[in-house]
Amino acid sequence: MATKTRNLIRLKCTVCNRANYYIWKKKGSEKKLELNKFCKWCAKHTKHKESRR
Ligand SMILES: [Zn+2]
Repeated sequence: MATKTRNLIRLKCTVCNRANYYIWKKKGSEKKLELNKFCKWCAKHTKHKESRR
């Protein structure tokens, strides 16, 4: 299956807590992602953290 080697990760805005981005991440990299991304709800760049389901 296609999901075998990759995980679907949600990137959540740390300000409004909404999931704005979905990215595929390879398994094995256990580091938590923190990215500055544009949040359409906050209408500015905010820090986004990954969150798993
Ligand atoms: Zn936001």
